[in-house]
Amino acid sequence: MALNKTSANFTPYKYDLNIYRGCEHRCQYCYAVYSHKFLEDADFFQNVYYKDGIAQALDRQLSDKKLKGQLIGVGTVCDSYQPLEKQLELTRECLKVFIKHKNPIYISTKSPLIERDVDLIEELSKITSVSVSVSITTLDEQIAKKIESNVVSSARRFEILRKIKDSTHALAGVHLMPIIPFLTDNEKNLEEIFKTAKKLKLDYVVTDMLNLYGETRKNFFSFFHDVFPEIEDRLKALYSNSRSINAYKIELAEKIRKIKKRERFVNHRLKAKREKNRLKQVSMFEEE
Ligand code: SF4
Repeated sequence: MALNKTSANFTPYKYDLNIYRGCEHRCQYCYAVYSHKFLEDADFFQNVYYKDGIAQALDRQLSDKKLKGQLIGVGTVCDSYQPLEKQLELTRECLKVFIKHKNPIYISTKSPLIERDVDLIEELSKITSVSVSVSITTLDEQIAKKIESNVVSSARRFEILRKIKDSTHALAGVHLMPIIPFLTDNEKNLEEIFKTAKKLKLDYVVTDMLNLYGETRKNFFSFFHDVFPEIEDRLKALYSNSRSINAYKIELAEKIRKIKKRERFVNHRLKAKREKNRLKQVSMFEEE
């Protein structure tokens, strides 16, 4: 099986495709580290697995009428444009399958390797809905280098989106997530990201705050202790109970609402070719 039914109810897709397991991008806040537990392998960032024959499995699954026209999230718990993808080209093969089935997709990545596949993204986006999201957490490149050590600069990530926007019919937007309290949540950073997205005529900026569950919490606090000790106590206090988190969430949502209003930033909705595929691009915690 290539596709999984997602359990989350806030995503615009009901099925996802994860071609790799593990991710060399090494984001300190990575929410997906738990997934290596099932492989009894502790190193999510080092040991990357791939699914042999994934394009053929995807082809078989998409031949099922029940899945026809379903939006598929691509790379939801690991980046589909891993360094390994450069030689294996599994994501590229899967794009060809999506073209064959005229299937809408929602890709998220942080890698410029996606530019290699602009030809296929363009071909698919001419016949159905395609959305390409790139995660950008901060415009402070020094902070970015610390929290996302194996990822290109934020400026380069905006460049990926510009290329997608200029060369394809896909929607292109920013995943401004996770917003990390006391580190990347300042007004200036958030505002500049919205401003840059607007300047580049990007279609959306989707926001979400930091979620710390299970292994992620352990890894993240250990990293913070070593690299940002001055913030560690405040962050731990904030994440100690749900009341403080809720209050913070409301405050952050209000800050974002004001920035969007000031910048007159409007999220464009993903319109599919057919009504049944019409989808909504909304923030994961704020309403339009
Ligand atoms: S790119 Fe995504 S999956 Fe990869 S390490 Fe970063 S957060 Fe995790």
